Amino acid sequence: MANILIIEDEISIAELEKDYLELAGFQVTMVNDGQKGLLEAMAGDYQLIILDLMLPGLDGFEICRQVREEKDIPILMVSAKKEDIDKIRGLGLGADDYMTKPFSPSELVARVKAHLARYERLVKNHDKVNEVIEIRGMKIDKTARRVYVNEEEKILTTKEFDLLSFLAGHPDRVFTKDELFREIWDMESFGDIATVTVHIKKIREKIEEDAAKPQYIETIWGKGYRFKV
Ligand code: CA
Repeated sequence: MANILIIEDEISIAELEKDYLELAGFQVTMVNDGQKGLLEAMAGDYQLIILDLMLPGLDGFEICRQVREEKDIPILMVSAKKEDIDKIRGLGLGADDYMTKPFSPSELVARVKAHLARYERLVKNHDKVNEVIEIRGMKIDKTARRVYVNEEEKILTTKEFDLLSFLAGHPDRVFTKDELFREIWDMESFGDIATVTVHIKKIREKIEEDAAKPQYIETIWGKGYRFKV
């Protein structure tokens, strides 16, 4: 069951919306003031917001803008004035839909359902896609942070994983130890570029069949390392 937040200062309208949405099976919270509405929108676990434009405290433009910076849930904006709807569109605040008052409550419920269904699909698809690099029997799942060689999982430390996935993500390019050190360790380490050499050695021991004859990370003498394509 989805949680819906209504930010609306006209109590009779807010209650009408609430009644219809609850009948449709949604959990509804009402807030009648802009400032409180923004706080509730940010802190609460809502899947959709119905946002009035003209509100005491803080207007709907500002609430929409601030919520959008943090959350990608659908925002349905309502206003008494047709001109305001054009203004909302023009500002590109990231609202998903607009309705002019008065609107039929069943139309509102239909739109809420449509937006929630679309949002759910987006979230699901987003969850499903792991960023994976696959190359000659090795699979690096960057989302799950797991490495497999010929289906067998290899356990790498955080930095080993970062280094391997960086190199594999930029195949056929030579990186110097300096570049790799800056890329993976940044300024957080007291180590030096020898750290890179040590980590490459460890990675090879874990992923290569024969660490002396590496098939994945090549040493380019006098230059650095390159991930073989
Ligand atoms: Ca209002």
